[in-house]
Amino acid sequence: LSDEIEEFYEILNWSKSIKKLSVRMNADTPEDCQRGLRYFAEGVGLCRTEHMFFKTNRIWPMREMIVSDTLEERKSSLEKLKPYQKNDFIEIFKILKEKPVNIRLLDPPLHEFLPTTPEELQKLSKLMKISMAELKYRLQKLEEHNPMLGHRGCRLAVTYPEIYLMQCEAIIEAALEVKKLNINPNIEIMIPLVATFKEFQFIKNKIEENLMNLYPNIKDINYKIGTMIELPRTCLIANKLSKEADFFSFGTNDLTQTTFGISRDDSGKFIEEYKEHHILEKSPFESVDIEGVGELMKIAVDSTRKENPNFKIGICGEQGGDPKTIEYCHNLNLNYVSCSGFRIPIAILAAAQSNIKK
Ligand code: PEP
Ligand code: MG
Repeated sequence: LSDEIEEFYEILNWSKSIKKLSVRMNADTPEDCQRGLRYFAEGVGLCRTEHMFFKTNRIWPMREMIVSDTLEERKSSLEKLKPYQKNDFIEIFKILKEKPVNIRLLDPPLHEFLPTTPEELQKLSKLMKISMAELKYRLQKLEEHNPMLGHRGCRLAVTYPEIYLMQCEAIIEAALEVKKLNINPNIEIMIPLVATFKEFQFIKNKIEENLMNLYPNIKDINYKIGTMIELPRTCLIANKLSKEADFFSFGTNDLTQTTFGISRDDSGKFIEEYKEHHILEKSPFESVDIEGVGELMKIAVDSTRKENPNFKIGICGEQGGDPKTIEYCHNLNLNYVSCSGFRIPIAILAAAQSNIKK
């Protein structure tokens, strides 16, 4: 077995020396980060912060926050969540040291956090000291027919800016903490599901204003604020966005969903039949659809790089670990691909093969 491991690392090392694209990992926990580094990940390309709130000790303040009616209540729940977030980031920064860490601010539809069982409803009504009727009324107000196309991503930050402000405070406080250990983290704060220039500008200004007010030594922290590109509209305004954003990362899960108009959660149901009729060769979520999604990516990259040739652009959707997509990203001159830890060796090999092929 150890011979095989040696050979595995030898191939990884060759590939690493040949490839041009950076390969990062999608990682939400310190354990993910350790694993990715063992496979030579060059940083974190996507840390989905919402995953950090599902742990039992955090889900309740999260639920309180979502159901709360006033800003004061929301802020008090967020204060409870902040130490957890800060600690998460301290641990991640300690592992990644100076390698880039891309932290994606809260994205999912809020209902994913909500209580569903009668016991959970009871517990929340007790915790919040509100009647069951009041709780149910508030929950009803949060309901959406199409949550994946609804109140999620940066839209949360426009309606509840305090969520992203808390997350950014936790990031900066964690960075200040690890600086005491001589670690200077390389932080990318990423805003999801941006569709318009004004959304991004509004949120970025709020974040920066808050950070400047709170941390006089913020200048010592190496952080950037960028956006995901995961909607067709965002591809079309990429050039304008690049004047305000520090980097882009393609979220091809949502970009594929919104370009095809196929739900990423239910897509499997008819794709098999499409394959039988040769209408599609495979699920468009598996590998980049060059004609449509790929073309939108190309529009975004070309229009941005025409004026700013060094603008940093990566990809962090599931396709970031798919060899065909990696070849496409290499040819588009992206800076990096990011994928889950277990796919990193394949991604490194694919990145090397793409360079050789070119
Ligand atoms: C994406 O949409 O491709 C992405 C990486 O974000 P998420 O899967 O978390 O929506
Ligand atoms: Mg997405």
